[in-house]
Amino acid sequence: MKSKKFLLQENDIPQSWYNIIPDMANKPLPLIHPATKQPLLPEDLYPIFSKAASDQELNTADRWIEIPEEVREMYRIWRPTPLVRATGLEKLLDTPAHIYFKNESVSPVGSHKLNSAIAQAYYCKQEGVTNITTETGAGQWGAALSLAAKHFGLELAVYMVKISFNQKPYRRSMMQTYGAEVISSPSMSTKAGRKIITYNPNYQGSLGTAISEAVELAMSTPNCKYVLGSVLNHVALHQTVIGLEAEKQMEMAGEYPDVVVACFGGGSNFSGLAFPFMRHKLNGDRNGTRFVAAEPASCPKLTRGIFQYDFGDEAGYTPLIPMFTLGHNFQPANIHAGGLRYHGGGAIISQLKHDDLIEAVDIQQLDTFKAATMFARSEGIIPAPESSHAIAATINEAMKCKVSGESKTILFNLSGHGLIDMTAYDRYFANDLTNYEVTAEDIEKTTRDIEKLL
Ligand SMILES: *Cc1c(COP(=O)(O)O)cnc(C)c1O
Repeated sequence: MKSKKFLLQENDIPQSWYNIIPDMANKPLPLIHPATKQPLLPEDLYPIFSKAASDQELNTADRWIEIPEEVREMYRIWRPTPLVRATGLEKLLDTPAHIYFKNESVSPVGSHKLNSAIAQAYYCKQEGVTNITTETGAGQWGAALSLAAKHFGLELAVYMVKISFNQKPYRRSMMQTYGAEVISSPSMSTKAGRKIITYNPNYQGSLGTAISEAVELAMSTPNCKYVLGSVLNHVALHQTVIGLEAEKQMEMAGEYPDVVVACFGGGSNFSGLAFPFMRHKLNGDRNGTRFVAAEPASCPKLTRGIFQYDFGDEAGYTPLIPMFTLGHNFQPANIHAGGLRYHGGGAIISQLKHDDLIEAVDIQQLDTFKAATMFARSEGIIPAPESSHAIAATINEAMKCKVSGESKTILFNLSGHGLIDMTAYDRYFANDLTNYEVTAEDIEKTTRDIEKLL
């Protein structure tokens, strides 16, 4: 393990986030108000999100958006994060490819999620909000927001997908340690939760359902806002600190990536790493770079979903989002990469995919754990099951180089570590995990009705 690190200084933390929309030839289609069927205005979002997040969500004009000093101050706790040349993995694979990863697992909560949690909690505090609420799948987003809420003195209620609430007790403990209230979803505390429990008492929950519960709480509680950890444009925006740092670090390494890879749940860590590099492709400076989103075969929205307006949540409380989607009623298998069990991709990503500017691959669960084990044994870091999808896709790319003899430069995002996911590893070693493939009939069933939404 002689991997080489490329480190930046504290004052290299970016001053601004990068908004990709001004650089896109085909802009993302507008979000649509479900009642009026008109393009959404920032004011339509103010009852749910902070005003700053709402304005950022619909900002198509400003390429650079300043990062508030209080947010940069908190980023200094763990940023800039290291860029690492994975020579151990290269050697294990015996590939001519150069493999680099951006290590977002070094944050206090172990994932990239804190980049947006801090920004969103900060804006809520600035605007006089006292309570915030959100959903969490595997618990990564909930843990990040719990830390951020505590720092800015906000009360936080987290709806945690039931399967993870039971399977991943330590992320629940982390949230409680930071002082948040954690509720298993579906719950009896909301209309959306009660409805789904009535129809399906054994329902193990989904991100779509948990979002409905949190949005309902925010809309029915004074001075309470909803905060989302992925999918939306402003979340992708906050995550661009990852790629902006990585750009400088690749320069230090004297290389530029031919392939940029990240796992894909709702798109935040993918966007965060990819968009700053994508801007050089969009302005014609770097035409050759490929961008690869790695998603689970059990929840393949980019590879097998349809490009359509759909709701971001199960109950249909959110605006209509133009997305690659499996349908907002899609119920993903209980894979261990809980953060990737979301039915759609965000508006920007979906447009880029539609325009063939990004590629998507789907990865089987057993392949992700095989890749994770190889990575841990050659680089020393135990990756999150989500991040392992990016590692598996990277290994596939590196093995193609081995066959062709090409020495490509591959950069992937290590979005988080897996130290709180060891139950999943236990089950892998006990041969207790299986692959899940969605059938065409499943997808047909959950996408059939969404065309009628608009
Ligand atoms: C939440 C999460 C993801 C998936 O979410 P995206 O918004 O697609 O990035 C990936 N990796 C880790 C470690 C996560 O916590």
